[in-house]
Amino acid sequence: MPEIYLKVDSAYPEDQGAGKARLDPDTMLQLRLNPGDLVAIEGKRRTVAKVWRAMVNDWHQGKVRIDNFTRLNTGASIGDRVKIRTLDAEDEAKRVVLAPPEDLPKQLPINYGSVVNKLIDFPVVKNDSVPIQAGLPFMQPQLVAFKAVVVEPENAVIITKNTKIEFSEKPAAGFEGVKRISYEDIGGLKGELQRVRETIELPMRHPEIFRKLGIEPPKGVLLYGPPGTGKTLIAKAVASESGAHFISIAGPEVISKYYGESEQRLREVFEDARQHAPAIIFIDELDSIAPRREEVTGEVERRVVAQLLTMMDGLEERGQVVVIGATNRLDAIDPALRRPGRFDREIEIGVPSEDDRTQVLHIHTRGMPLAEDVSIAAIAQQTHGFVGADLAALAREAAIKALRRYLPEIDLEAEEIPPEILEKMEVQARDFRDALRD
Ligand code: ADP
Repeated sequence: MPEIYLKVDSAYPEDQGAGKARLDPDTMLQLRLNPGDLVAIEGKRRTVAKVWRAMVNDWHQGKVRIDNFTRLNTGASIGDRVKIRTLDAEDEAKRVVLAPPEDLPKQLPINYGSVVNKLIDFPVVKNDSVPIQAGLPFMQPQLVAFKAVVVEPENAVIITKNTKIEFSEKPAAGFEGVKRISYEDIGGLKGELQRVRETIELPMRHPEIFRKLGIEPPKGVLLYGPPGTGKTLIAKAVASESGAHFISIAGPEVISKYYGESEQRLREVFEDARQHAPAIIFIDELDSIAPRREEVTGEVERRVVAQLLTMMDGLEERGQVVVIGATNRLDAIDPALRRPGRFDREIEIGVPSEDDRTQVLHIHTRGMPLAEDVSIAAIAQQTHGFVGADLAALAREAAIKALRRYLPEIDLEAEEIPPEILEKMEVQARDFRDALRD
């Protein structure tokens, strides 16, 4: 059976949730594959994906592009090597049972009818995470992972229109499929993300490299830059892509008024991280927990800084427990926290460039029915100074403007919105113009 080793890279934004593997023509020729064929991809796990041709700048680089679902299903992260193998046969599944994740919120609507239609022709093997579109059919779609708990027969690799698809009521135990943020959810920031990954993910996943070279993996990393630029997003993505336990605390929340409670809270957080290592502790608004000591008047802040220093100095699981601090004001952080062995790596997360804004807009309009007159590039050009959070809000606002246009035609009392109305709904250029004007 022909096989080949390739390096994993992230999917193109438009491939998100599509079950595709992008390969270059050389690889396709070598494996005698055509677009639309299925291949097996093997990392720590084995899954299947649909072959698609990579774009020219990706050729001759020995890589395969797959999305976060497929990466999870192969047990491989970006940069890992996976084995690509052709299949003997593409057996269709007779029956598939999909179980919801444990963290699926009750109020998140899922239109099972359209989900089933989308799954036709989707590659799947048992225990895969399968992307399911949730949210209102029109606004803010979100892909959540359901687990394929049953796939019959066992060697089946694809869902067809003959497959009986069932949704189980019972969530898949220990399976999280909603809050997972992946690298595809981050627009721009390529260099920054690369640095964060080298600093945190590499030592976490491959401590042996660091031991061998005698380098100390970091304990603390500071992400600094204006609010809404993606600092939290990066921390969450690194945790979920590296399979690390993620604990998030907000600085102000830790500063508790009651004597002794703040330090207790910090101790608990570090203990939790140690027990669940590899783990990432994310402290948002670190400046509020750790103002420069000369500026501190409050006794509480002073004690919390001291406690945090103690906890970080006492961290023995170097590289396996990493603290990421986020702040808008680097100069407001206590210098003692920035000494070697503490938050000694600093990475700036800045305001996005026009190119980066284009990527962020693509991410936040993913799955929205955009009219032909919408030019993401033009919107990116007109939004100088917008950060990621602003662009996300803009996309949401445009969708709301569009929705208002259709409201007169919708009978809100009716059980279901007529499919012909849903079908013709689209977000137009004028919706973005109106959203920008407010
Ligand atoms: P920060 O932690 O820097 O204040 P967040 O990471 O919390 O900002 O960003 C807030 C929201 O804005 C995110 O949940 C996301 O919807 C959007 N956002 C911010 N930056 C980006 C980005 N680079 N790419 C995509 N979305 C972004």
